[in-house]
Amino acid sequence: MDPMASAPPTAWTDHTLRTLDHAGYRSSSARTAVVELLGRQDCCVTAREIADELREQGRSVGIATVYRALELLDELRLVQRLDAGEGVVRYEPALPDGAHHHHLICHRCGEVTAFEDERLEQAIAALSQRLDHVVDGHDVVLRGVCARCRDAGADARAPGAHG
Ligand SMILES: [Zn+2]
Ligand SMILES: [Zn+2]
Repeated sequence: MDPMASAPPTAWTDHTLRTLDHAGYRSSSARTAVVELLGRQDCCVTAREIADELREQGRSVGIATVYRALELLDELRLVQRLDAGEGVVRYEPALPDGAHHHHLICHRCGEVTAFEDERLEQAIAALSQRLDHVVDGHDVVLRGVCARCRDAGADARAPGAHG
């Protein structure tokens, strides 16, 4: 019942490798390394973070290869993209059962936090009915200031970034 409980990451990894295979992509060890790493993430990561993590594991996969793998996964709708602003794009597994979460982004420290809300999902489903539109996906990003930055900036109140 906990909406935060999603399919185990390995389910996504298996599904993704199978989908790539069925789509006719010759298996590449670099791409598989990216898929396996991504499958272990609870939330979104950048191409840079993936490349750094793989290097720490002693696998040298260049950033260009990571980008190409992510673009392919995005094309096949196997990952969910999150544009965190400032040109930084993050990716996370798009689970085959549709389980997902949404994000809060702090525009001061850049921290990305996941959240889920059942009533939000119900509201979107009701909206898609009212608009008579087959909605098969949605992105919700809430931007603002995280609690840590809010507390840190309590005396030095900065003007809002936008209205
Ligand atoms: Zn996430
Ligand atoms: Zn949702």
